[in-house]
Amino acid sequence: MAQWIERRPTEPKVGGSTPPRRTFYVLDKHVKYMREALKEAQKAFEEDEVPVGAVVVYEDKIIARGHNQVERLSDPTAHAEMLALTSAANFLRTKWLNGASLYVTIEPCSMCAGALVLSRIKNLYFGAKDPKTGACGSVLNIINHKKLNHRIKAKSGILEKESSLLLKEFFRKKRG
Ligand SMILES: [Zn+2]
Repeated sequence: MAQWIERRPTEPKVGGSTPPRRTFYVLDKHVKYMREALKEAQKAFEEDEVPVGAVVVYEDKIIARGHNQVERLSDPTAHAEMLALTSAANFLRTKWLNGASLYVTIEPCSMCAGALVLSRIKNLYFGAKDPKTGACGSVLNIINHKKLNHRIKAKSGILEKESSLLLKEFFRKKRG
């Protein structure tokens, strides 16, 4: 399984020792949480829902999970992120999720991005971009809009291939 790696910039020479020019290391934490979001997406897949999954992490613990349930609940708002946000707010008994992070397999849509802003969540990590409806940089950029009162730090590309493959497999199966 591909892992997300980040290149650390070259460090200055300290105390006479020469650090390696480039250090590659795996950011296990993000990969670990995105795997949990992928497990949620897999649940959606098995329930014949568009396979998107999300988890909310607070103080290094998963406090909420969600997977797409639009068909099951006959509710166009039952996206993985919405369900995970509501569940996280219930868990923390608060309306705001300052200091929490959301991991989701696919770039959030405009509804979910709006809800993320309202939740005041700190970080967003997502797997694959969604060029058709993504509202976190692809079609729109709601989470970093200068006129809104809250902005969210976002990072994409974590387990990107796994996230998009699941989605592609779902639509391939649907087409029969
Ligand atoms: Zn959405």
